[in-house]
Amino acid sequence: MYVGRFAPSPTGPLHLGSLFAAVTSYLDARAHHGTWLVRMEDIDSPREVPGAADTILTQLETHGLNWDGPVLYQSRRIPAYREAWHQLRADGLVYPCNCSRKRLRHLEGIYDGRCRTKTAPGQDDIPCAWRVRTDIADRVHWNDLFCGPQQFDLKQTIGDFIVLRKDGLFAYQLAVSVDDAFQSITHVIRGGDLLDSTPRQLHLLQLLSSPAPRYGHTPILTDSSGLKLSKQRFAPAINPTSAQHNITRCLGLIGLTPPTSSLGAPASELLQWAAENWHRNVLKTGESGKKAPTSIAVD
Ligand code: GLU
Repeated sequence: MYVGRFAPSPTGPLHLGSLFAAVTSYLDARAHHGTWLVRMEDIDSPREVPGAADTILTQLETHGLNWDGPVLYQSRRIPAYREAWHQLRADGLVYPCNCSRKRLRHLEGIYDGRCRTKTAPGQDDIPCAWRVRTDIADRVHWNDLFCGPQQFDLKQTIGDFIVLRKDGLFAYQLAVSVDDAFQSITHVIRGGDLLDSTPRQLHLLQLLSSPAPRYGHTPILTDSSGLKLSKQRFAPAINPTSAQHNITRCLGLIGLTPPTSSLGAPASELLQWAAENWHRNVLKTGESGKKAPTSIAVD
């Protein structure tokens, strides 16, 4: 039983880095005869670019990355996130926080739990962020499919983190955990930039009594100066008329070179060949013996 997923945020079209993430999760799923789902993570409306969700789906299609079943849109899942938040609240696991931005800046990303001991406000209409408690958490462990054994001390390295934002939007960490459980995801294959999100998601899944998927974090693509290819750094959108070239390029970065007989084959055939030849060892970073880079520079 294998259910994988690709979960883009529609903040712009796919670039080579996000295509690479889609290809690795697709190949791992298909190589294991699994289901591959697409989930559109469109809950952060201020960051969303109109039309980007449709553009991404078209890009996936033109690149032969055919998903199973309907696309799940997070914007339609707000009641499920609210229910999870209510559950956490009823269990005393989340609390409102009205610390100022200035105070948070001084804490440098590790929340010290100051609002945890305050009594909750009487009314729900006072806008404040809601944080989940990590003081009750043990170290979080998992054996990453690419990076090997991992352990994080949430209390020390992250602290209580936000699940419901002050602007009323549910945070990525809560939405993704609720949806991975809802879609019965068994394997999350994604870029290494999300490695430190995994302990938060495992923590939430545990608090919500949901089973945890296996996680595998692949190398991320960077520009020649070592910075992650990203929409924020204006990585160009992949050219829709060069699907074969783009897929061949991604396969090359994984170390898969299709045979010359498949030169000129459509992207979907190249992917089929790649799924038959896919091996996780190529991208393993954390285990002795095999060392792949945690990032790959592209021109
Ligand atoms: N939506 C997230 C992103 O585009 C990825 C979420 C995930 O794979 O867990 O960065």
